[in-house]
Amino acid sequence: MFLQSRYFFSRLATSTIHSRCFASTLVVAEQIDGGKLAPVTLNALTAASQLKQDIDCVIFGADKTAETTTQLQKFNNSNIKKIFVAENVAFKGLLSEAVTPVLLDLQKKNNYTHILGGSSTFTKSILPRLAALLDVQPISDITKVVDKDQFIRFVYAGNAVLKLKSNDTVKIITVRGTAFEATKEGGGSGQANVEKLDSSVKNDLSEFVERQIQQSERPELPSARIIFSGGRALKSKENFKLLYDLADLFPGQATVGASRAAVDAGYCTNDLQIGQTGKIVAPDLYVAIGISGAIQHIAGMKDSKVIVAINKDGDAPIFAIADYGLVGDLFKVIPELNEKLKKK
Ligand code: FAD
Repeated sequence: MFLQSRYFFSRLATSTIHSRCFASTLVVAEQIDGGKLAPVTLNALTAASQLKQDIDCVIFGADKTAETTTQLQKFNNSNIKKIFVAENVAFKGLLSEAVTPVLLDLQKKNNYTHILGGSSTFTKSILPRLAALLDVQPISDITKVVDKDQFIRFVYAGNAVLKLKSNDTVKIITVRGTAFEATKEGGGSGQANVEKLDSSVKNDLSEFVERQIQQSERPELPSARIIFSGGRALKSKENFKLLYDLADLFPGQATVGASRAAVDAGYCTNDLQIGQTGKIVAPDLYVAIGISGAIQHIAGMKDSKVIVAINKDGDAPIFAIADYGLVGDLFKVIPELNEKLKKK
């Protein structure tokens, strides 16, 4: 009996030690223009730290990865043990055909149990591909970490909350940036080790040609504190200027968003679209102007801290989620608002 229980204890102990040694997380840190670290990586780091296991990070880039690494090193409070750096001209444009084989190799060598990235065009392209190569189910756009196996995400355009349990040995996860606070700089001890990967990648499958970026002095939608968002009611591209004028009264803080109807009508570029098939935002202040409040739009902005709706139809569904509502004609209200704000 004694022997039997000792055997049981030693089995238990071995399995505990086993999981401590091997449960670890890899965060795919995203490099954006000029070697900058994508802000959404900091939200992914917060989600990763909630798994309470060692974290490694990996950075891909055609150049300037040293700058990205230096920025990532500042977040030494988030349990990062190692930063892998893969620099190669083949990573220009961060094409998934070039990046994914390197990630697969890293996973095989280090047995990561969780691989995470902030939800972005880049991770949405590479992580499902990696999941397919590992034959596991990708877990997209999580809004909460329950434990190492269970996660929360929205389904049906944000109308239902799903708690999912994954039994896969490797969990491939994208993290909804607005649902997790960004990790703050500093406060931790030591620096993560940096290891350069021998990334002699050959990518015959695709070629990066060019990226066309809308140049703007205004902040990016996901990081803007104030968003003036316009819908079909704006009626033309020229009328959208009313919203740009409002945003420019709050330099560095405010920008312009749009409903899909406004984008489809050509009133603005599609990078401004907010909603289920657009960007997900959660600013301090969201002003919906001439937007009816379709569920697909609400899915992208309902977590905003304060929502103001301006609509000439008092029964528009947007008023149901608005903190403040104004029933009126936008072509009268917006110029008046602009004048009053200018005086302030
Ligand atoms: P409308 O619904 O036409 O509303 C215009 C509003 O303006 C009305 O409420 C009207 O009362 C008001 N109005 C009119 N004139 C004035 C005036 N002078 N002053 C004040 N108010 C005025 N939509 C998104 O936004 N984002 C998405 O990501 C998205 N994804 C989708 C995905 C799928 C699969 C599908 C099927 C649809 C998706 N849609 C999305 C479209 C969505 O269903 C709606 O069609 C769209 O959001 C409507 O845009 P809107 O509110 O600007 O236009």
